[in-house]
Amino acid sequence: DLGITGLRVLVTAGANGIGRAVVEAFLAEGAQVFTCDLDAEGLGTLDPAVGHMVADVADRGQVAALFAQATERMGGLDVLVNNAGIAGPTGRVEEIAVEDWDRCLDVCLTSQFNCARLAIPHLRRSGNASIVNLSSAAGKFGFAMRAPYAAAKWGVIGFTKSLAIELGEAGIRVNAILPGLVAGDRQRRVLEAKAQQRGIGFAEMEALAFSFTSIKDYVTPQQLADQILFLCSPRGRTISGQAISIDGDTRML
Ligand code: NAD
Repeated sequence: DLGITGLRVLVTAGANGIGRAVVEAFLAEGAQVFTCDLDAEGLGTLDPAVGHMVADVADRGQVAALFAQATERMGGLDVLVNNAGIAGPTGRVEEIAVEDWDRCLDVCLTSQFNCARLAIPHLRRSGNASIVNLSSAAGKFGFAMRAPYAAAKWGVIGFTKSLAIELGEAGIRVNAILPGLVAGDRQRRVLEAKAQQRGIGFAEMEALAFSFTSIKDYVTPQQLADQILFLCSPRGRTISGQAISIDGDTRML
């Protein structure tokens, strides 16, 4: 028992992938959960106990509506998981459309500011408050042809460490999670694109990626959810300002 029964949790982008696993894991431990996503259909297939609304985390008006609804339904907030992110454009910097740069930074980085600033007043009134921000292994290496994503994910770490210092006095912890190769469609698409860039097949690309990884296996969304729940539970009370890699010790992108 992690001791998180009744915890009031807001997870962004909980309809699919990692966010969905985090939502389900919190629910299974007896937490109250609210989520948002752009995928209305996906939200509709969540457990009925999960509060949800369609909201774009890059849109401050929609984020305000999200926090109003979530905190009213749950009677406050103890945990914010800033999970929403998009892969962003692929290509050389001089070829990337400025709108694609802006959108990637807005969804992957500025969204975390949008949500944190509305969460903090509620977190200050909680006895067990924490924020977890999703970064990526792209937040510790350069990532050719994916500069907007890498810039945003490095930015997440700077934001996390700064906020951890600011909120330490209030006992609120802030950490970043850096997933590596996560099992699922999204990672398959990324590896396919990399294989194409190198002119090799998918299997060869997969083998190449794992040749630079100590634990040669995909990370599962469930593993990420387990780590996030631990950080947000009372057992994680003194862990803050950390950028935690869950990536099998990968050394390349
Ligand atoms: P995913 O594509 O499986 O799911 C992302 C979800 O975000 C989708 O439901 C989508 O509808 C939603 N979404 C997208 N833009 C949104 C917006 N503006 N507002 C609200 N919802 C939005 O992605 P995932 O793999 O679960 O990734 C989750 C997080 O983990 C992201 O921040 C991602 O960058 C990070 N990450 C993923 C991997 C990986 O291999 N999958 C690796 C490292 C980091």
